[in-house]
Amino acid sequence: MEILLAKEMGFCWGVRRAIDIMEHAADEHGEVISVGPIVHNPQVVEELEERGVRMGERPEDDSRPVAITAHGVGPQVLAEVEATGAEIIDGTCPIVTRSQRWARRMAEQGFTVLVFGDPEHREVRGVIGWAGDKALPVRDGDPLPDPFPSRVAIISQTTQSPERFAEFVSEVMVKHVSTISELRLVNTLCDVTSHQQAAARELAAEVDVMLVVGGRASANTRHLLEVAQEEGTTAHQIETEGEIEAEWLRGCDKVGVTAGASTPDSSVEAVVRRIQQIAAELEVAS
Ligand code: SF4
Repeated sequence: MEILLAKEMGFCWGVRRAIDIMEHAADEHGEVISVGPIVHNPQVVEELEERGVRMGERPEDDSRPVAITAHGVGPQVLAEVEATGAEIIDGTCPIVTRSQRWARRMAEQGFTVLVFGDPEHREVRGVIGWAGDKALPVRDGDPLPDPFPSRVAIISQTTQSPERFAEFVSEVMVKHVSTISELRLVNTLCDVTSHQQAAARELAAEVDVMLVVGGRASANTRHLLEVAQEEGTTAHQIETEGEIEAEWLRGCDKVGVTAGASTPDSSVEAVVRRIQQIAAELEVAS
């Protein structure tokens, strides 16, 4: 049985960077407390807890430094933390920071800022915060705002698909070109996700079964699973190597492995070792 790994997968550099920043801060201060979950991966969360990076509610009189995750936060959250006097450890991914700056700049110039993305996602909530009352989030598939603004800037959640973003911009043009006086389009997409999806698609076309490693709450892990299934390949999402069923691998010559952006290399390595073990057991049994 051959085990093939996707050319691009696992932790993106933005999440790796945020974790490094937080771990160093925890080493220095003893403990830091993060604003929201750092990654959607229970194993990583556990490792970080052991290192002193805490998650959860922060009591009002807490003096521990506050860590901002790669998704970033809006100015209101920053102001609230600053008001408590706690030190801020900023792990915001630079690509998200760029998006926040564009949102603020466009709003200051009087544009209504359309943010294409999930309004409930922490990154989008933060970006919207930087545009103040000039921001309108639009989820993929939702109707366009009515009335539609005349001076409009369009940006995207960093992890949206480029194809969907292009379709969204086309829809805006087709429906509202006659009433728009000025349109600014800023490409705030991050290419990590699209590269990982392309790599998963390529691999899925080559293998008999795909295993997608990542937390069940991770949206980008679920997207990788969908991409593999769209290729017509049987695919399973797993959080740990213990979830692999031998039956999935019976009769397979090639097994593909990919992982979501919040999955550490150690989880992927454990999955590969488990596949090798199952392959050996199946060979003995046959
Ligand atoms: S996916 Fe891209 S934007 Fe998001 S944290 Fe990773 S590098 Fe940054």
